[in-house]
Amino acid sequence: TVRVRFCPSPTGNPHVGMVRTALFNWAFARHHGGTMVFRIEDTDAARDSEESYEQLLDAMNWLGLDWDEGPEVGGPHEPYRQSQRMDIYRDVAAKLLESGHAYRCYCTTEELDERREAARAAGRPSGYDGKCREVTAEQKEQYEREGREPIVRFRMPDEPITFTDLVRGELTFTPENVPDYGIVRANGAPLYTLVNPVDDALMGITHVLRGEDLLSSTPRQIALYRALAEIGVGSGTLPEFGHLPYVMGEGNKKLSKRNPESSLNLYRERGFLREGLLNYLSLLGWSLSADRDIFTVEELVAAFDIKDVNANPARFDLKKAEALNAEHIRRLDVKAFMDACAPWLKAPFAPWAPEKFDQAQFEAIAPHAQTRLTVLSDITANVDFLFLDEPVEDEASWQKAMKEGSDALLRTARAKLAEAEWNADALKAAVVAAGEEHGLKLGKAQAPVRVAVTGRTVGLPLFESLEALGRERTLARVDAALA
Ligand code: GLU
Repeated sequence: TVRVRFCPSPTGNPHVGMVRTALFNWAFARHHGGTMVFRIEDTDAARDSEESYEQLLDAMNWLGLDWDEGPEVGGPHEPYRQSQRMDIYRDVAAKLLESGHAYRCYCTTEELDERREAARAAGRPSGYDGKCREVTAEQKEQYEREGREPIVRFRMPDEPITFTDLVRGELTFTPENVPDYGIVRANGAPLYTLVNPVDDALMGITHVLRGEDLLSSTPRQIALYRALAEIGVGSGTLPEFGHLPYVMGEGNKKLSKRNPESSLNLYRERGFLREGLLNYLSLLGWSLSADRDIFTVEELVAAFDIKDVNANPARFDLKKAEALNAEHIRRLDVKAFMDACAPWLKAPFAPWAPEKFDQAQFEAIAPHAQTRLTVLSDITANVDFLFLDEPVEDEASWQKAMKEGSDALLRTARAKLAEAEWNADALKAAVVAAGEEHGLKLGKAQAPVRVAVTGRTVGLPLFESLEALGRERTLARVDAALA
């Protein structure tokens, strides 16, 4: 059965690349009725933080990417935070040393740099040259007298390593390109290079789906897995690997964590729906079919196959993300839409709430808002005219809409609105008629009315808005604009 893992390091804020990895692992697990393991790779005390850890859990919960084993839910391979598994790594490192799969390396950083430079200058491979593979007892003593503190280095096999990547097909790495590598620091701290495959082996991971940036560690990990199998750590079966394509941002550069568009928080704060964001992120390297880019999470799970992931870089496109999100907003039923808007109809986004908020008025306008919003956070500015005593004061909008003759138009419109029946059709007819008297088309005629009543030049359909606002308040605002 399928066992996948999502194993982020808790550094910084959750970002879209990380979420895409989580999503593909989750969809793969759910599609196959497998197990999603959530493991926290927090062995780097200098970079990891508890705040990032909390944010990770919060992000996964918000996205609905649930896990079967991991923090909070536990599981047969507890603990799932690597910082709590140090004894295991120490033990495995000792076994690797004992069995000769790893060795102590006494080379100093300066010596390594020097030899690397020399190799480069001579056009030879510049990775570790294997100097400490064989260290005599005398040399060892000498090094120790010098006070050198060794790291633990893994001995790579001298043959090429070949594997079939689930996304990229067969790949071969030759020994020159994959030199022996460090697995434990001089101070005894185990490195990612050790703890990640050790836990994959112990946790029985069957598929490793992760970003292309980690492709170069795969031959190292495969060699380490084989060594682990020999020394009896884990089940002994090698997982399959699939490397997800890079995500390219502006200027065709890799989307970096520093790019604001890569922060998950941005999407939450702007009011992306979970469904909209997951739909979008799933398209970064995968597609349901050539002619369908809108689908639900259930449809994604039903169709997801890692073999359909494209090896070519994916392009990040915020506009497309917004368009998909808008479509998911349209698909909600009105009640769900109103619920989804709730956070933005509260402080701090809506300083006038809760005192001025009125559910019945919101219900009246919600269907019109639902067909217009791209992101939920836009709801505040679109409906505040209903709840504020006076429309927002926006000088720029006012300048833009109030032209020569606007007063005259407003006066006519006011008179006609005062007599109209209070429904959108009749209100529209009133403004059309007012425009005709002044030689103005509807677009031009309604602009001053809109600004007088809502304070803004753009917003929800005007006549539905007036209907929701009511006769008295509408007329009072037109009067205020004329005063
Ligand atoms: N902790 C690693 C990272 O966040 C996990 C890499 C992997 O999936 O192997 O990059």
